[in-house]
Amino acid sequence: MSELKSTPMMSQYFSIKEQYKDSILFFRMGDFYEMFFEDAEIASKVLDITLTSRNKNEDIPVPMCGIPYKAAEAYIARLISRDYKVAICDQVEDPKNAKGIVRREVVRVITPGMILEDTLLDARINNFVASISKNGEVFGLSCLDISTGTFRISETTVFEDVLDEILRIKPSEVVVSEKNKDDGDILCIKKSLGSVYFSFINDNSFSIRNSRDTLLNHFSTRSLEGFGCEDLQSGICAAGALLSYVKETQMKSLSHVTGLVPYRSSDFLIIDDSSFRNLDVFVNQRTGQKTGALIDIIDMTMTPMGGRLLRNWLRYPLVDLSQIDARLDAVDEAVRLRAEREISRNILKSVADLERLGSRITMNRCSAREFVALKRSLNALPELWMVLSTFESPLFDFQENLSDLSILADLIDQAIAEDPPASINEGGMIKEGYNSELDELISISRDGKSFLAKLEAEEKEKTGISSLKVKYNRVFGYFIEVSKAASENVPASYVRKQTLVNAERYITDELKVFETKVLNAYEERVALELAIFEDIRLEIVKHNPSILKVASFISNIDCLTAIAQVAEDNDYVRPIMNNDGIIRIEDGRHPVVEKTIDAGKYVPNSIYLDNNENQILIITGPNMAGKSTVLRQAALTVLMAQSGFFVPAARADISVTDRVFVRVGASDNLASGQSTFMVEMEETANIINNATPSSLVVMDEIGRGTSTFDGISIAWAIVEYLHDLSASGVKTLFATHYHELTELDAIKPRVKNFNIAVKEWNDEIIFLHRLVEGGASRSYGIQVARLAGIPHEIIARSKKILTNLESGSHDLRSVSQGTQARMQKQSRPRQLELFRKPENVVVEILKGIDILSLTPLEALNKLSELKEKIRDIR
Ligand code: ADP
Repeated sequence: MSELKSTPMMSQYFSIKEQYKDSILFFRMGDFYEMFFEDAEIASKVLDITLTSRNKNEDIPVPMCGIPYKAAEAYIARLISRDYKVAICDQVEDPKNAKGIVRREVVRVITPGMILEDTLLDARINNFVASISKNGEVFGLSCLDISTGTFRISETTVFEDVLDEILRIKPSEVVVSEKNKDDGDILCIKKSLGSVYFSFINDNSFSIRNSRDTLLNHFSTRSLEGFGCEDLQSGICAAGALLSYVKETQMKSLSHVTGLVPYRSSDFLIIDDSSFRNLDVFVNQRTGQKTGALIDIIDMTMTPMGGRLLRNWLRYPLVDLSQIDARLDAVDEAVRLRAEREISRNILKSVADLERLGSRITMNRCSAREFVALKRSLNALPELWMVLSTFESPLFDFQENLSDLSILADLIDQAIAEDPPASINEGGMIKEGYNSELDELISISRDGKSFLAKLEAEEKEKTGISSLKVKYNRVFGYFIEVSKAASENVPASYVRKQTLVNAERYITDELKVFETKVLNAYEERVALELAIFEDIRLEIVKHNPSILKVASFISNIDCLTAIAQVAEDNDYVRPIMNNDGIIRIEDGRHPVVEKTIDAGKYVPNSIYLDNNENQILIITGPNMAGKSTVLRQAALTVLMAQSGFFVPAARADISVTDRVFVRVGASDNLASGQSTFMVEMEETANIINNATPSSLVVMDEIGRGTSTFDGISIAWAIVEYLHDLSASGVKTLFATHYHELTELDAIKPRVKNFNIAVKEWNDEIIFLHRLVEGGASRSYGIQVARLAGIPHEIIARSKKILTNLESGSHDLRSVSQGTQARMQKQSRPRQLELFRKPENVVVEILKGIDILSLTPLEALNKLSELKEKIRDIR
């Protein structure tokens, strides 16, 4: 490569590339971004563009490819989506003024977390970069969305909490110290996040001193007391390192990041990632789409920022009764004040995404169009404020003074054209009448047009050439064109500039003078417009903190009024919150399933849970009866209530829960090479280890992924464990097709049986979808198989086998020996005997004890465990 360094431009390239080795370098040359060497080879493949070469005729040609700078956005998006980092290297001086080679600098590095462009972002989803620090036992966690300025900080000593929280944040990029690259915990987080982009940065940024300094400098404060996070040492390491990383890659001040919000995961209802996904809140698991997910039905917000907040409310439901009630009070009022709500929502339609607008404007990635959008939004405020003054709930009350923002809106109105161009380098942004110098420059170019028309007419007359035209192109500037035939008649003062097949082109002195004047005027105009644009931009930046306050207030209003609208449209009711441990849902519905079936066909169901006799409901019923639906509807109702939503029920009393666990179905996680059963057991272990007496556990068909015998045993033991948890038990809905489990209600005082009713009719079953007390008597598997289209012969044969099995006279000669052995082993009487008789359980346990390996304390515990097992035997 040494020969290549001989050209000044290539040596400039090498010195810049040296600093951005891990990025694809977009090297600006005129109207193109060029890539060289390996970057070119990668980019040409990923972007599907032609790979060419520079210095073709030399011994070592340089592979290169390029893209027009105007189309860069889409190409960058493609590279980012394939996990490449892109460094944008621009020309930072006007080539005209350059002495020698044009100065170039990297102005921005783009990674998945560093995107600001609306076209590349999902308007309703935050785009977080997260950072994790590890100081001894304490993990620090921070996340920042540079497109909105949202910045949070947290810490914990429990690894599982970090994992849960990072999955809840769902970052598009994670920043970690290089030092922790091979740390087991970090590797585990990386694996759980799948394809999320990880940036490993120098450990210095994570030192407590540097990170704290970064934060103090950024916020211009002397301590972090004001943000309430001075004592979060590990959190500060994560937040400071994150901020310095973002600043370094963006090379901007990030003045729109105005606060740092500390939080603990326990300040909110904890619902782990897999439980949350099992409820299909944001995405329908089966289809991977938003359609069929809860959000599709309950997000009726009008603004993108409202949409983001609504998601945040659902992902971080509240656990403080008074906070939940405050939100519900506000929604309640918005339900009652229907007219005001509708007017407000109508006004919100014209409010743009102020958070992202503000971020783009402060980071100087905007055009005058953003200013106009800001003005229109600000102009909508007075009317909105007037409507909101009718509301009494404090959440509708905006304390700040808005007069500064209306002055800002006026300034934009006076200066910026109503429909400005998308580019800031072509003029046309500033209204006439705003700046007299600019007006003069504009009139020169405008007068120029009439001057040219006049000149053309005069020259035509003077020369008698009717085909004569005055034209312009970028290479020659202004010229006079006459047809070949007429070219003999041009005056001597015409200087030939170019010969075409059918025409000749000339310039004249007069035209040259004119051109200089007009072109200069145009250039001056563009420069002046840019300067005015920059003045206004800085004025907006000054007001950005107020704009962000308004944005935050409006997001809240948007959510509250949207929730009220959803409540009215779908006939939801206000949940009555309590701290008494009672969950009573009367005539509840599943908010998504009720939409997928014919109107009026949904069968509402009631559920009552408390900490006494109704703590664990064992729900049996054939497949397709509606067990999963009733389970999820209960969990969703609790989640919605604590997020501040009205709920789909006739009445709902909801005791505030600290955690909701939802373990449903057996979904294979083949990608990670785990078996169905393994995933099921891991998720169950999570519940067992983390559930508290204030949690709600929802378990569907646990133990299905293994043999019947194992399955029943595990399911049985889990119910027992949940029943005895912390000596008070945990509220649980447990759906199962193992009828044996219905026997638990005889043994455990807080267990109750329910089933989903079906009706038999002419050997067919009709699903009633109604939850009723008592255990199901049969599983109706054969009838369900028939409904699913299993051929008649198989159905008839299985019926026969079933009858024989039930009467104990099944002819085992017709089945293989292996199957015979298994069927005998798993035969019903033995299972029932085992689960009915605690003394048998005790014998089993005694058989398994190795006395020599027990400590006296363990022996004592074992004895007490055995005693507990036979407690109910008189
Ligand atoms: P299970 O878990 O018992 O196999 P599901 O809960 O998956 O059954 O329900 C099966 C189907 O029955 C659902 O897709 C839905 O169409 C219908 N269904 C469930 N519950 C109800 C209900 N309460 N009212 C009307 N239809 C229901």
